[in-house]
Amino acid sequence: MFDKILVANRGEIALRVIRAAREMGIGSVAVHSTADSDAMHVRMADESVCIGPAPGTDSYLSIPAIIAAAEITGADAIHPGYGFLSENSVFVQALQDHDIGFIGPTAEHIRIMGDKISAKDTMKDLGVPCVPGSDGGVESLDDALTVSEGLGYPVIIKATAGGGGRGMKVAKSAAEMPTAFRSARAEGKSAFGNDEVYIEKYLTTPRHIEIQVFGDGKGKAVHLGERDCSLQRRHQKVFEEAPGPSISADERAAIGKVCADAVARINYIGAGTIEFLYEKGEFFFIEMNTRLQVEHPVTEAIFGVDLVREQIRVAEGHDLSFEQDDLVINGHAIEVRINAETFPGFAPRPGKVNAYHAPGGLGVRMDSALYAGYSIPPYYDSLIGKLIVHGRDRESALARLDRALGELIIDGIETSIPLFHALLQEPDVLSGNYNIHWLENWLETKFTEK
Ligand code: ADP
Repeated sequence: MFDKILVANRGEIALRVIRAAREMGIGSVAVHSTADSDAMHVRMADESVCIGPAPGTDSYLSIPAIIAAAEITGADAIHPGYGFLSENSVFVQALQDHDIGFIGPTAEHIRIMGDKISAKDTMKDLGVPCVPGSDGGVESLDDALTVSEGLGYPVIIKATAGGGGRGMKVAKSAAEMPTAFRSARAEGKSAFGNDEVYIEKYLTTPRHIEIQVFGDGKGKAVHLGERDCSLQRRHQKVFEEAPGPSISADERAAIGKVCADAVARINYIGAGTIEFLYEKGEFFFIEMNTRLQVEHPVTEAIFGVDLVREQIRVAEGHDLSFEQDDLVINGHAIEVRINAETFPGFAPRPGKVNAYHAPGGLGVRMDSALYAGYSIPPYYDSLIGKLIVHGRDRESALARLDRALGELIIDGIETSIPLFHALLQEPDVLSGNYNIHWLENWLETKFTEK
């Protein structure tokens, strides 16, 4: 049993973990940079420790500083949230060496899934369907051309160590390959310190469908259905919903079972997300995230479970608190990501929030670390809140989203709220008729000066 958890993160996800811990009677420690002394997670936690200067590399990504904070405060375990150190196997190994618990999977599983080639190989061996592509890494331009000829254009070149939508380039023809190949490698090198790339068939009209899995680390695992996260800009999700409007109960049960069986076989522990592209009734694995996802609340809403509580419980050594048959979908949920940025320019706009009013009422959840008078620092991600709505069906969830967005006031900075007001006017969004390219096409048609 844990008495005290340190949350190695900031913003809304730090609050999410502190809240779960408090409901379980577990103490919480916030860590923060000097830029975050006034942040809500510091105010809300039982204790806090300053771990360094503003840049993430010197604070939220500093393994020694975070371990020292855990030792000083006597924390039993660390919850990493998402981003920062959440998928860093070196960090997890260091915690083990210091006898500090980690609320998440093993260092080995993080390592396997963090390398996209070994993730794909592992999933293929476990019977999970994958996007057709190169057999492992592609070393030279000649090899890239040969592989792509075999797959047929268009293809996508991906950095093995990539993430967050970076390190990916599309080549529509052999002529585009030299530039695409070189720039994917360069981006992999500069952003992730690794220039290895691999190639996949580029699917032209897929949806992004991801399956939530949960393992107990002892050979048992369940799935919690899918989330449709196809509405993306620059490979970044902006609007997520569950269940997916295009997925039937039979498809969900089938792909869910494949995923749960796969993670059970490797004794996976904790929350995980297996991401697929879905086209013409077929699922193609692209990657696995070995952590809690930003969009986990839509799954919590439709299944009535607390995924963070469950993460903490299995890390303590408990069995899962639900069986597959207990997990029954109730209604429909949608999340929209509120960013501090301009619309339609999408330029980051940190600054002072003069007034803040969160929406409320039946089926509305606002996860945000904002408060009136708070100054959003310029050093971190522009995500400042997530509005999640739950309704008895998709139509009522959409109506509730419209109503809740109307109540949400964030004054003093520009935000992505107007994007969602505009999306809710679109027949394709209202009918669920979209794929991963819909949003960018729409932005280009509607908002680019001709
Ligand atoms: P990251 O780790 O950077 O998030 P992913 O492999 O998860 O990268 O891919 C992110 C997004 O990029 C997907 O949701 C999809 O929109 C697009 N994408 C990735 N692979 C392909 C592919 N083979 N064909 C078409 N789009 C793809």
